[in-house]
Amino acid sequence: MSGTHEQQVPNGVGGTVAVELDPQLLEILACPSPDHAPLRVGSATDPAADFLTCTSCGRSFPVRDGIPVLLLDEAVTPAQPADGRQTDG
Ligand SMILES: [Zn+2]
Repeated sequence: MSGTHEQQVPNGVGGTVAVELDPQLLEILACPSPDHAPLRVGSATDPAADFLTCTSCGRSFPVRDGIPVLLLDEAVTPAQPADGRQTDG
């Protein structure tokens, strides 16, 4: 008796989109920062990354198991230009 339990999971349809979110969901999602700007799929540097990026402040929020984590604590802030200002947190 061979007891392999490998189920064949249907593979994705050759797409390159990492995050699959309903466009409608994406519409109601907004950046948790005061700009409340709409988000776009992908990180600032990788449009195929599992991130949602604010179109205003540029923060990238991770998407875990298809669930966007819209927390400023979890946000990846973009590389900031030399502003002479540092946040020490
Ligand atoms: Zn923002």
